[in-house]
Amino acid sequence: MTTIIQEKTQEIININPATGEEISKVPILDKEQVEELVLRAKKYFPIWSKLTLKERARYLKKLQKQIVKDMDELVDTICKETGKTEMDGIVEIFTVSEHLNYVVKKGPKYLKDEPRSTGIFVHKKAYVSYHPKGVVGVISPWNYPFILTAGPVVQALMAGNTVVVKPSEVTPNTTLKLREIATRAGIPEDAFLVATGDGRTGAALVESLNTDMICFTGSTATGRKIAEVCGRMLKPVILELGGKDPMIIFEDANLKRAAKAALWGGISNSGQTCIAVERIIIHESVYNKFIELIKQELEQIKQGYYKDDVSVGSMAFEKQFQIVMDHIKDAKEKGAQIIAGGERNEAFMNGLFIKPTIITNVKDDMKVWKDETFGPVLAIKTFKTEEEAIEIANKTPYGLNGSVWSKNKKRAQRVARQIKSGTICINDVLINYIISDLPFGGVKESGMGRVYSKEGLRAFTDMQSVLVDRFNIPFELWWFPYSKKIKQLFKTFTKILFG
Ligand code: NAD
Repeated sequence: MTTIIQEKTQEIININPATGEEISKVPILDKEQVEELVLRAKKYFPIWSKLTLKERARYLKKLQKQIVKDMDELVDTICKETGKTEMDGIVEIFTVSEHLNYVVKKGPKYLKDEPRSTGIFVHKKAYVSYHPKGVVGVISPWNYPFILTAGPVVQALMAGNTVVVKPSEVTPNTTLKLREIATRAGIPEDAFLVATGDGRTGAALVESLNTDMICFTGSTATGRKIAEVCGRMLKPVILELGGKDPMIIFEDANLKRAAKAALWGGISNSGQTCIAVERIIIHESVYNKFIELIKQELEQIKQGYYKDDVSVGSMAFEKQFQIVMDHIKDAKEKGAQIIAGGERNEAFMNGLFIKPTIITNVKDDMKVWKDETFGPVLAIKTFKTEEEAIEIANKTPYGLNGSVWSKNKKRAQRVARQIKSGTICINDVLINYIISDLPFGGVKESGMGRVYSKEGLRAFTDMQSVLVDRFNIPFELWWFPYSKKIKQLFKTFTKILFG
């Protein structure tokens, strides 16, 4: 049992999914309460946005240092409400620290006015300036409650916006802990506010006439609803949605590395990662060898509670546990072969533990192949030709991440270019997410817009293109009145310059 919504008291009761113990009660904010927070953020916007880029960076540097100082407290909060292993909790702090470091160092450079060329108009000057949008509503999911909240928040703040966050109802405590740590670091209360609650609270943030942008991370189904509302309101929105990422392994790949990467990429965080390896597409000639290697690797992996020396924890909440169990059941019923796991781990009956699972003999109509599983499950299919591998990989409505494995770099790059996804790795998995200089986001039903990097930071701004006349001469050739002479002159210019 996890995350109970109590309609009567308008509260969420949160349960540790690994132990079944109650850990907190937080309020579900209604429309009026959300609007109160949004208006506070709106009132504070002129103060925060007037700070120089360097001043904002200084605030965020303090936050970075405080997060590192309070790492143990944070990891404890994250692991208790998600059932993650301690290492998966530490990975959250490490990732946010690296992104914060980038935002603090590069933010002032990428958000200041940027000169642009004026082409043939040498007597003009041009630049682009980046202005904060106002109040940004950040809506986050439960699978990486720290990364997926802190990430958008610090980018939005660096760009000069104020923020109201709606954390997942499954993991509100991590965001509340972040707010506590931000207070210790001196981040003003009204620059970054937290609205706890469920989908209704999130909807209120989206529908508010006083939020100027939404940055949403979550499922494609919810993303679609939010996009509809934002479309109607013409409100800018970033959508970071689901995935069903392929891992294409060619016959010349380093199979040992690929097997280790597949396990970590698919099973870490109990597979509850938007860019998790979900579909392994392997050349038929190396299939048997790969299965042998992956089974050997799996033997070394222990599952258990977060303080223990283990690699895999529990699922984060009941609903996700049921979805994964249903995918495994559907695969079994349709004739798949379960070569490892495939069941609840009965050593921990108070918690939501699913054994790391490897499934072969997979068919296109199995849920485990066509829908996002979001659990500790790897499904494997074989291919014969490069074209077939690409076709299988692209046969999904999603397009988030993926990987191509081959020692032939030219082939790997050629294949990567043909995979329809926002991000992709060659001979690696997942780690692209922590490379702050790479934009992150999906194509197709995996979303729109980008976070991180220069492009991500600028996504939290309104771009203003500015043209300046340099010499203040009395008139321009193309101004009134037109004459035969001027027309002839422009014809000649056009021929000389562009003909
Ligand atoms: P979800 O869509 O159920 O919920 C996400 C958030 O939206 C929660 O805070 C929820 O309360 C809120 N919400 C629900 N209905 C809403 C509405 N109508 N209006 C506004 N807000 C609403 O997703 P989830 O189960 O929390 O997260 C898992 C999903 O997130 C997976 O599909 C995963 O792939 C995706 N995800 C994507 C990325 C990415 O960067 N692309 C990262 C992590 C997770």
